This record gives sequence, C-alpha cells and structure tokens, in this order.
Amino acid sequence: MSRITDILNHNQTFVQEGQYKEYVTDKFPDKKIVILTCMDTRLVELLPKAMNLRNGDAKIIKCAGAIVSHPFGSIMRSILVAVYELGATEVFVVGHYDCGMTGLSSGEVLEKAKQRGIQPEVLETIAHSGIDLERWLTGFGKAQEGVVKSVSLIKNHPLLPKEILVHGLIIDPTTGRLDLLSEDGITAAEQQKE
Ligand SMILES: [Zn+2]
Repeated sequence: MSRITDILNHNQTFVQEGQYKEYVTDKFPDKKIVILTCMDTRLVELLPKAMNLRNGDAKIIKCAGAIVSHPFGSIMRSILVAVYELGATEVFVVGHYDCGMTGLSSGEVLEKAKQRGIQPEVLETIAHSGIDLERWLTGFGKAQEGVVKSVSLIKNHPLLPKEILVHGLIIDPTTGRLDLLSEDGITAAEQQKE
C-alpha cells in the first residue's frame, strides 16, 4: 500500500493554501550549524524542538546511526559543503539511545536479504569486487561509540578547517534530553577535571 496518493493530495492543498509561507527562509543556516543525526522516526520533530531549531537555522544530515562510514563519502561531503559553501562553523553529531544501529550484525541483515530474494551469487559478486559488506553493514556496540568515532573522523578530516568546532551528543528519543559527550573534541569527563 503506497502513500504516494495521500502525499500528493496533501501537497496540493499545502501549496494552494500557502501553508508554506511560515517556513520561507534561505539556504544559509542562520545559526551556522550542521547537525549529523540518525534517521530515527522519533527524532523527526523532537530533535529540532529539543535543540530549539526552526526552519532555516541548521543544516541537518541524517543517516542510520549518525555514522560517517567513509571519510570521502556523501556524509563528509555534505559537511564540507555546509562549511565552505553555506557558512557553517560548528558541527553537532547527535546520536541517540535505543538506536537501531546498536548491535546491528551484517550476517543477520544479509540473511534477511537472501530471504527477500537476493541471490547468494549477488553477495559473492559484491564481495569479489572488493566491498567489505560485513564492515559496511555492522553497527556499533553503544550509541556513544558511534558518536565518538564520527566526531573523531570529522574533526581530523584533512579538508576540515581547524577552527570548525565539532561536538558529540546523545539525545534521549523520548524526552529529548541531550547528554554532552564532547565539546570540540574535549570529553565531558575531561572538562570536569579542569
Ligand atoms: Zn538511530
């Protein structure tokens, strides 16, 4: 059952009635921030509200687990474009508790793929082409680990200007509470020592 008709019908009314007018802004983030977060459904409205973000305030990049899996993949490219072309000066990596990427195992995902009709030869062909499916489809032990890794990769990226701040946070997907893991590379534990 596709949602396409519902969505297109709603869209016509939305535009005709001028409901878009309260969202009009430009492509430059007013708060000069980029947020990398998870695609989790609980965060669709909660995260912007919990972080006090309105349309136009931030660049928001979403993917499963807020993981930057490749230093030259599309997530890192998006961050660099936000910095160089759109004036962002600060990056927030926001993971969340109870993330679907916690404990994700490539074996289970690939087993489901086979059950859904993907032929084993296809997996072999992919493996022979040099793609490490196991690594690519594996999540993290804890959400904190994923955030720490992503923050480190972004902060140490050879194309990221040194003055760009990169923070790591975890959001509670029910209450919206933010726990600070690191503020520009300095962990919350280290800050308490100072
Ligand atoms: Zn998630």
